[in-house]
Amino acid sequence: NMKVILKHYVSGSPQETDMHLTAGTIKLKAPTDSNAVVVKNLFLSCDPYMVFKMMKLDRHYSESYTPGLPITGYGVAKVLDSSHPDFKNDDLVWGLTGWEEYSLITETNHLFKIQHTDVPLSYYAGILGMPGMTAYIGFYELCSPKTGEYVFVSAASGAVGQLVGQFAKLQGCYVVGCAGSNEKVDLLKNKFGFDEAFNYKEEPDYNAALKRSVYVAILLATEVKSDVQLFFPEGIDIYFDNVGGKILDAVLLNLRVYARIAVCGMISQYNLEQPEGVHNLTSIVMKQVRMQGYLVFDYYHLYPKYLQMILPMIREGKVVYVEDIADGLENAPAALVGLFSGRNIGKQVVAVNCV
Ligand code: NDP
Repeated sequence: NMKVILKHYVSGSPQETDMHLTAGTIKLKAPTDSNAVVVKNLFLSCDPYMVFKMMKLDRHYSESYTPGLPITGYGVAKVLDSSHPDFKNDDLVWGLTGWEEYSLITETNHLFKIQHTDVPLSYYAGILGMPGMTAYIGFYELCSPKTGEYVFVSAASGAVGQLVGQFAKLQGCYVVGCAGSNEKVDLLKNKFGFDEAFNYKEEPDYNAALKRSVYVAILLATEVKSDVQLFFPEGIDIYFDNVGGKILDAVLLNLRVYARIAVCGMISQYNLEQPEGVHNLTSIVMKQVRMQGYLVFDYYHLYPKYLQMILPMIREGKVVYVEDIADGLENAPAALVGLFSGRNIGKQVVAVNCV
């Protein structure tokens, strides 16, 4: 049973060398006196929150990994043996599993049976799994979007961001995104239907980049083509924040009255020893903004409602989903650390046992 082990606790940016691949053995039988299942892992999900579990933190919302043991995370798997009444052999499941070929899963409260297999199975690590729910909850439940509003999304081409942008377009909003390469910006505009986008690495004056791109979206919306009307009357109604830091600070200067901010994540801050200060919080008072953080784990009771919405959208081609699939457990550490340099284009998944 090949597995990816955390070698030691990490401080600062995680590196491939913080993990290693090793062989082990596993009994492919679930203990009869338990509610456990034994699974064959098919796809593993690389998610930014995993970096916290690689650190030794005193207080966090989820426990740290144990050095010497396999990394755990979301994945898609096939049940090989089960002592759990809700799962039987050959069921396909998604949920928390191990970074290894086969896993014994004893904590099954984050394990969901897959009922629909006419879509790619890897989607249950992305659009049909935790990242999909994250986009859905943050956008619809927290931001109360209305037709014609201006939405800005950071890390917009990623697992969560690409969906938020498409949801916003389907809602009749004008959508601007930022991402870290021209290839990603191109995806935003030409694959996901964003009205405008910018490469934040090439436009480090985020305030100016935001003003320009939201203005372009306004021009598109109003079909005002003349520079005579160049003004910045409006701004952002909804900010779906995936990155925090300086981009959040610039967004705060460009909000409209009664704007909403879903604080989904702050990936630009995760590996910093000293988090960057955010200076423009006065905007929250002056613009009467609602800013709310959330953890998707608290909203899984809404998963059936989400599936009901998203499955037809996938089948009818109303949403698309870009995945970046690394092949084999040996490539999993690089795929995971790549999230923090933007190496992934779309949802980062690792295929295991798929040959
Ligand atoms: P992505 O697929 O978007 O991958 C991470 C991306 O973040 C990278 O590709 C990179 O894209 C961008 N990034 C990395 N470092 C920086 C930086 N310093 N500044 C700006 N952008 C950076 O990941 P997910 O979609 O899975 O996650 C997006 C966010 O959502 C994360 O903050 C994550 O923690 C959060 N999240 C929150 C959940 C919740 O319950 N609240 C649940 C799931 C995710 P680029 O090339 O554009 O820089």
